[in-house]
Amino acid sequence: MSLVVAKFGGTSVANYAAMQSCASIIAANPNTKVVVVSASSGVTNLLVELTKATINDIQRDALINDINVVQQDILMQLDASVDVVSAIGQVLNRIQQLSEALVLDRSKAIMDELLSCGELCSSILFAEVLKQIGVNATAFDVRHVLRTDSHFGKAEPQIEQISHLVEQHLLPHLATQCVVTQGFVGADCHGQTTTLGRGGSDYSAALLAEALHAEAVEIWTDVAGIYSTDPRITNNARPLKEISFNEAAEMATFGAKVLHPATILPAVRQQIQVFVGSSKQPELGGTWIRHQVHNPPVFRAVALRRGQTLLNLHSLQMLHAQGFLAHIFTTLAQHKISVDLITTSEVNVALTLDQTGSDSSGQGLLTEALLQELSQHCRVRVEDKLALVALIGNQIATTSGLCKQVFEVLEPYNVRMICQGASPHNLCVLVSENDAADVVTRLHGQLFELEGRC
Ligand code: ADP
Ligand code: ASP
Ligand code: MG
Repeated sequence: MSLVVAKFGGTSVANYAAMQSCASIIAANPNTKVVVVSASSGVTNLLVELTKATINDIQRDALINDINVVQQDILMQLDASVDVVSAIGQVLNRIQQLSEALVLDRSKAIMDELLSCGELCSSILFAEVLKQIGVNATAFDVRHVLRTDSHFGKAEPQIEQISHLVEQHLLPHLATQCVVTQGFVGADCHGQTTTLGRGGSDYSAALLAEALHAEAVEIWTDVAGIYSTDPRITNNARPLKEISFNEAAEMATFGAKVLHPATILPAVRQQIQVFVGSSKQPELGGTWIRHQVHNPPVFRAVALRRGQTLLNLHSLQMLHAQGFLAHIFTTLAQHKISVDLITTSEVNVALTLDQTGSDSSGQGLLTEALLQELSQHCRVRVEDKLALVALIGNQIATTSGLCKQVFEVLEPYNVRMICQGASPHNLCVLVSENDAADVVTRLHGQLFELEGRC
């Protein structure tokens, strides 16, 4: 069976009209058998606010009301059946209960169940929109199949179990129905709800596509594909027709929000093509992410990731010693922190940590406990409000003459760190967040907008 998994992000399911455009896309391709939806735009942010310890009763009621309004608006325009109205009513009641439960018990498990409610609502509503245009659709609870560990807020999918559960519980529906399910949400082996981290619906779609051996994953969003840089930063960004898995993975890792960083992994494992396009303007086409692409250029795109923290560790123990780095990395791993960039000198190590990579409820990575533990072995200096600008392309490390073009642009800025060489696909610089958009715009101008370049 030739099967496509289509994922629609928050703006694509923000309201009834947006959902209707998505429904037409699905109706146009009978191979689209699995649909993964995000929460309607803004709803997850409201749910995150609800998880905060600092909100009072009045604020809680206001947040819940805002969430209700989004769902009720869609319900009203849908002219939904009694079953759908009651299903949405149950989720909304659950939001109330869970947010009240958090006052007494700030458990991460409760937070995750609360955060999952946005996707639960949008999947129920979207299945109904599909039914109304004659698609035989059903809402499916992804927690039956998307097994994860119990790391609430940033749960790790269990690939083998997902494959097994999908075969048992999801595949049988697909012979006759189009299944609409939730992105971002999973369940651990005790059936407790988990979430995959912000923006995780892309990842959910890719995981389901992998388990189903799908032919393609379509990521429908608010832009017509992957661009040479974020089109919100410069109007000169241009859409890319195709890019390789490697390039896409680097772009996502280094901040192109259009794709969650983990999305490419399942696609690579099963060699599944990924398409990115605009749900509002599908006629514009989009970007295909493939294993093989024609004539990969040296520079393909510029990515930007804000919210970076630089940790500078200084220790005289490092001088001619062994094991210092091992020690530091063990400590970081124990605190579940993954390091992005690293440079070392004789007695210093500089590392960057990604605050945007925090868990679903936005909890920061750099805790007091971690800083104290590190301080026992070295002097720690922390610098934040930094941004990582990454040039993405091919054979960057082995092509001569590139540095001049790049450094010309960087000349007026304070570059806090440079990394190049580990991967042939990127060259990264760390700059102040205030300079970041300028640096991206200028690099884009220099590398993509001048005649005859790349
Ligand atoms: P969704 O809600 O559909 O998942 P996101 O907001 O997560 O959508 O991702 C889409 C956004 O990604 C775009 O609006 C755009 O601003 C941003 N973006 C960042 N880098 C790029 C890029 N290189 N190409 C396209 N979009 C990008
Ligand atoms: N709704 C979740 C978020 O806003 C997941 C997603 O949209 O991908 O982060
Ligand atoms: Mg997204």
